[in-house]
Amino acid sequence: MDHIFGPVNSRRLGRSLGIDLLPEKICNLNCIYCEVGATTKLTCERQEYVPPAEILAEIDTYFSDGDRLAEIDIVTVTASGEPTLHSGFGEILAHLKETTGKPIAVLTNGTTLMDEQVRQELALADVVIPSLDSVRVESFRKLDRPATCLDLGEIIDGLVLFSHEYTGKLWLEILLARGINDSDEDVMALQEVIKRIRVDRIQLNTVARPPLESFARPVSEHRLQEISALLHQWNPGVPVDLLAQGAPTKDIPSTDVKAEDQPDLVDEIIQMLKRRPCTAADINKIFHCGGLEKVEQYLAPLVRSGKIYTRRHGDRLYYLLSAE
Ligand code: SF4
Repeated sequence: MDHIFGPVNSRRLGRSLGIDLLPEKICNLNCIYCEVGATTKLTCERQEYVPPAEILAEIDTYFSDGDRLAEIDIVTVTASGEPTLHSGFGEILAHLKETTGKPIAVLTNGTTLMDEQVRQELALADVVIPSLDSVRVESFRKLDRPATCLDLGEIIDGLVLFSHEYTGKLWLEILLARGINDSDEDVMALQEVIKRIRVDRIQLNTVARPPLESFARPVSEHRLQEISALLHQWNPGVPVDLLAQGAPTKDIPSTDVKAEDQPDLVDEIIQMLKRRPCTAADINKIFHCGGLEKVEQYLAPLVRSGKIYTRRHGDRLYYLLSAE
C-alpha cells in the first residue's frame, strides 16, 4: 500500500486511517520544522501527481476486507507535502466519503484556499485542519520558507473566506518555534487575523519531533502555556488545545490488534516512518507490538541495514527513515 497508512491513534481524531496523496515531498512550503524532510518539489502547481485511479483502487482494495471499516473512526487525508496540490483531491475525497461513510478530516497547510476550486473540494470534508503559523511576513518566511508564488496576504484572505463559507469543523493549527514566531508581536498579529476567522478549535503545537533543520527549536512549556492562556482569553468559547503536551487519545485495548496478526507489520512501520519520525513507544502504541522490547526487535535489522536510523530530540530517541 503506497497511499494508505495506519490506522493510528491520533491525539486529535481518534483511530484514524491516513491517505497520502503524493508520491514525494511536493509542497509550496519548506518549513524548517517539517517532519517529512526537505521539499523535493517546491511548487504551487496543482497537478495529477499520482493518477487518482491508482489511489482509488488502493482504497477499494483496502476496504474490500469489511472488518477494516469497523476498526477506524475517521479517514484523514494528508500527504508527504500539501494534499490540495493534487488536482484529483476532490475526486478522491468524494470517493472516500461514498466508500467508507466515515467522517473525513483533511490536514492542509492552508495556503491554497484563495483557489475557489480548492475551497469547493474541501467543503466535502467534515473536519479541516489548516495551519497558520505566522501572519508577519518576516516570521512566515523564516519558519515556513514559502515558494515565491505565495503571498501571505492572499493566504490569509483565502483562509478567512473559506472559514465563513465552510459548514464543517475548522481547527486552526499554529506551530510555534522559539525565537521565530513566539514573540508578543507575532502572537498579537496572529490574534488580529484569528478574529476574522470562524474557528471551532485552536491547536497550539511546537517543534515536538525531530525537525528538518536543527535550528528549529521548541518553545518552552511556560511560553506555550502563556500563549495558550492569551488565545483562550481573546477567543472566548473556542477551545485551545496544546498538541505538544499530547492531548488524551482514545485508547484502544491492546488486545484489539496484535503485532503477530499483522504480517505486514514491518512494512506498515516503514510507511509510518516515511511520514513522521516515531519513538519506540509511539510505534508500540500505534501497532500494539507488545512492548518496547518487541519494537526494538522488529526495528534492529532495519537499523543494521541502514534502512532506518535513530536521532535524539530533547529527551527522546526517534526512529527515522533513511533517504533512498
Ligand atoms: S510541514 Fe507541512 S506545509 Fe510545511 S513543508 Fe512539511 S509538508 Fe509542507
